[in-house]
Amino acid sequence: MTAIHNTRSSLEKHNLTPKKRFGQNFLVHTGTAEAIVHAGRITSDDIILEVGVGLGALTRPLARAARQVIGLEIDSGLIRYHQDEADLPENVTLIHQDVLKADFIALYEQCQGPIKIMANLPYSISNPFLFKLIENQEKMAWATIMLQKEVADRLTAQPGTKQYGVPTVLLSACATVTRLLTLKPAEFHPRPKIDSVVVRIDFDRQTERIKALPEYDHALLHRVVRGAFSQRRKTLLNTLSSSKLLPMIGEEDKATIKQLTEAAICKAGIAPTARAEDLTLEDFVQLTLAFAG
Ligand code: SAM
Repeated sequence: MTAIHNTRSSLEKHNLTPKKRFGQNFLVHTGTAEAIVHAGRITSDDIILEVGVGLGALTRPLARAARQVIGLEIDSGLIRYHQDEADLPENVTLIHQDVLKADFIALYEQCQGPIKIMANLPYSISNPFLFKLIENQEKMAWATIMLQKEVADRLTAQPGTKQYGVPTVLLSACATVTRLLTLKPAEFHPRPKIDSVVVRIDFDRQTERIKALPEYDHALLHRVVRGAFSQRRKTLLNTLSSSKLLPMIGEEDKATIKQLTEAAICKAGIAPTARAEDLTLEDFVQLTLAFAG
């Protein structure tokens, strides 16, 4: 019996079919799941949060490597599957939960410290999930996640490329992203259209690169970056003028707002005609300082 047949027959036995809306592309080869877990450098002391347990392809090798696995799964059909089969190891706690609605303070407590995530992530939630990690960066240790190649390309993009954008900049301000493995569509059932990439995101703010940044208002950085990328083809002067970044005193007219915005961009040492995709993280931090007044 081939591995793919196992996945299919497990689903059929419980009248389940892969659900597109939950991004269900199940890993079918045990060896591949083991290689992903191995790349995660898990120790026997670790409590791991797994997002999207599915049929448990990653969960089982994870449970062998770690002390405990807390597995979140949104699909009630799959929760019932594991209840009926009682097929997950004893050190796995399965929770019926949408990760996008999860309380990270509670997860931090359950994980007994900074959260370590492993996931074969559904494409449909990759962006909101990454922003949730950024929002909860103080509670995060690392995340080893499988993403569609195009999403991974965005996370590791360099300035001046079309992949470079809001998640690239905001993640680089709090974490370091490393590409670990590339997987072909044949590794999954059903097969996705493109390759997948496993990346490791280390939320270590003590790296030299992050430590070298001056103190700045993090919430304001988020607004500056989102504003700058709101229309990629426009100049910074245009995008930032309409992003309501200035600490306004009264009802300034458009010309005044533009003048003050131009002054702030120049104060940051950046040309008002530059575009968001040309700026480094350091440039965005300088802009944030300039807009802070
Ligand atoms: N880990 C399994 C594997 O590697 O075969 C399944 C991976 S599959 C790509 C994604 C899994 O995440 C599915 O089981 C899906 O139901 C679950 N999922 C989708 N959205 C979710 C969410 N918002 N919160 C928790 N789980 C979710």
